[in-house]
Amino acid sequence: MTSVSVKDLSLNFGNISVLKDLNLEIADGEFLVLLGPSGCGKSTLLNCIAGLLDISDGQIFIKGKNVTWEEPKDRGIGMVFQSYALYPQMTVKGNLTFGLKNAGVANDEIERRVVRTADILQIQPLLERKPSQLSGGQRQRVAIGRALVRDVDVFLFDEPLSNLDAKLRSELRVEIKRLHQKLANTMIYVTHDQIEALTLADRIAVMKGGLIQQLDTPHAIYNHPVNRFVAGFIGSPG
Ligand code: ADP
Ligand code: MG
Repeated sequence: MTSVSVKDLSLNFGNISVLKDLNLEIADGEFLVLLGPSGCGKSTLLNCIAGLLDISDGQIFIKGKNVTWEEPKDRGIGMVFQSYALYPQMTVKGNLTFGLKNAGVANDEIERRVVRTADILQIQPLLERKPSQLSGGQRQRVAIGRALVRDVDVFLFDEPLSNLDAKLRSELRVEIKRLHQKLANTMIYVTHDQIEALTLADRIAVMKGGLIQQLDTPHAIYNHPVNRFVAGFIGSPG
């Protein structure tokens, strides 16, 4: 079954066209990476799917439902950004539960989800701390936790590891992979990092100038790039 479907999507900022007639189908449980250089439209595409931008043309479906004009909170998605976007004045637990309380989720259900999320991400000891008392890697775990606690089917990540050093990046890469294997939910993951794309993705969409150049498995893209741009960007030999 299709989890996320983007049909003939166009997005303009003023009279500048950033995405042009883009089509994309993401399967249930798939880990799809949007890979491309800075400015190619990755975040714009992700933000359109999330409902953070009004699209100029086209439609977006999530789990078969046309969500083109739905509010972000009603789309059944969780989002993790590059900057952690945690509330500094709240504890970790407060950050995890804030959205759920607003959505009217019952207290015992909130408690159950916090315990489960903290367990999966191994952040139980951090629950009463403030974001300022966490390391960068811990903050990003909490940011992932905030998406996880919402119990949604689709996770959107926008360069979640870009602010971290190389060691943490590789640790969290493993963690995110493990999370995906455990949850088996759909993940759409934006990065400009080839290694992240090759190690995480079921399929990679390589983007340039608002267009998808190639959409295929890491193996196929690495071994059979469709053009020199893709070959150069993914670092294929020859
Ligand atoms: P990426 O995430 O791949 O680095 P973006 O999706 O952020 O790229 O940006 C794609 C293009 O759209 C870039 O040329 C960028 O300058 C432009 N852009 C992004 N956001 C805006 C905006 N709010 N207003 C005008 N142009 C924007
Ligand atoms: Mg971006």
